Amino acid sequence: MNSVDWIAPLRLAPEDHPHLEALHTSLVAELYERSRMPLVIMLGAMALFFGLLRDIIAASLALRILFPILVALVFLRTVLVIKREALAVTFPQTVHRHMIFLTGALGEGLLLGAVLLAAFPHLDPGRFLLMCLCMMGVAAVTAISLSPSPASYGAVMVPSLGALALAGVFHPPFGLGLLFPTMVLFFMVALGAVSLHVHKSLQRTILLTLRLQDLSLRDHLTGLRNRRFLTEFMQEESPRVIRRWVFKDPFIQTRRSISLILVDLDHFKKINDHFGHAAGDAVLIQVAQLLKEIVRKPDIVLRWGGEEFLVLALDSDRVAPPGTSVRIHERMARHDFILPSGETIRLTCSVGFALFPFHPEYPEGLGWQQVFQMADKSLYHAKEEGRNRLRGFLPGEGEPREIIAALETMDPDYTRARETGLIQLV
Ligand code: GH3
Ligand code: MG
Ligand code: MG
Repeated sequence: MNSVDWIAPLRLAPEDHPHLEALHTSLVAELYERSRMPLVIMLGAMALFFGLLRDIIAASLALRILFPILVALVFLRTVLVIKREALAVTFPQTVHRHMIFLTGALGEGLLLGAVLLAAFPHLDPGRFLLMCLCMMGVAAVTAISLSPSPASYGAVMVPSLGALALAGVFHPPFGLGLLFPTMVLFFMVALGAVSLHVHKSLQRTILLTLRLQDLSLRDHLTGLRNRRFLTEFMQEESPRVIRRWVFKDPFIQTRRSISLILVDLDHFKKINDHFGHAAGDAVLIQVAQLLKEIVRKPDIVLRWGGEEFLVLALDSDRVAPPGTSVRIHERMARHDFILPSGETIRLTCSVGFALFPFHPEYPEGLGWQQVFQMADKSLYHAKEEGRNRLRGFLPGEGEPREIIAALETMDPDYTRARETGLIQLV
């Protein structure tokens, strides 16, 4: 590593752009995480300081006013940092929370300078200004750099508290001359350099983690999301969807479902057999592109495996078959897929779908995994019945709880549930 390398700003690759929001959020979360302990220690140090220098504080009116304000500010910031989740409700935007944090840090720096002035009343305005700037700089650099480790906060406190402690020992007025501002300036430069470096390596680590995370959730050939993504996504999203159905929130007018749409290309093996594997790959890439064009913007397209794709149509109306699945089925059959040789071919697909939540009157009855199984079984039926069609399972006649209970206990192919009319294949 050369000196230019760590001073140069971090260059972001184009593939990092989708991660920028996540990077920012992670960095702010890291800042709050790291700030907890130093702030608590700072409060402890101030309590100790008050105990040791009570006489001096009592003797100066300015210190009697400034010191409690400083303690209150540090205390407030500590509470905000510890109660980060509560703060996030009032200020949902990370950038606002960051501003609050920084304002607090700068305020502390300024107040520390003022406290020092009160402790050293002989300081002239020039020196005071320098000191304030130094203290503010130290606090700001510490906060911006996201590396307010206990050591760096200690470094902020050592010059100020140390000097005041000395003053307490020798009684004011205590002439430090230029020594004190020089000391602070030195700390500021050293701390700034260290924290800048820490900040940059933190940024790199987070970006690398995000890149790896993204890669592990993508299919190599098509660039679509892969199977693992489904679990990650549905684990987060399904409780949210269910909550909207179960708690009849007056602010949410319509209860939306997620359509799970499994698409399997018909007789795909023939393409490989006739035109070669590379041609098959080219078609799969075009299918992925076509699916992305067909679905709505927030919907998710996954490569489930081989020549099978899964579409998660979010915020779906409860219609069967879902509009997205109909569009996919129709457009796929009309599309001209271009082979590497320049020839064009047409394909059909079979589609199996299911809606999550499965039963609108008992939304929490079936988990998303079971609903996915239903889409899978529906696809099997579409294939069995001769391919190139849409099939899906819907709840049939009967008590919602009875239907769900039957699905959970009956045969895995739902044969009996279908015979008894508890569910229907449409
Ligand atoms: P069906 O209508 O029953 O779905 O017939 P099918 O031929 O589409 O299905 P089958 O499961 O018999 O074969 C799937 C084929 O998909 C076999 C395999 O070679 C091909 N395949 C799977 N993954 C890839 C891939 O990444 N690239 C290529 N070129 N072919 C693939
Ligand atoms: Mg197939
Ligand atoms: Mg298949």
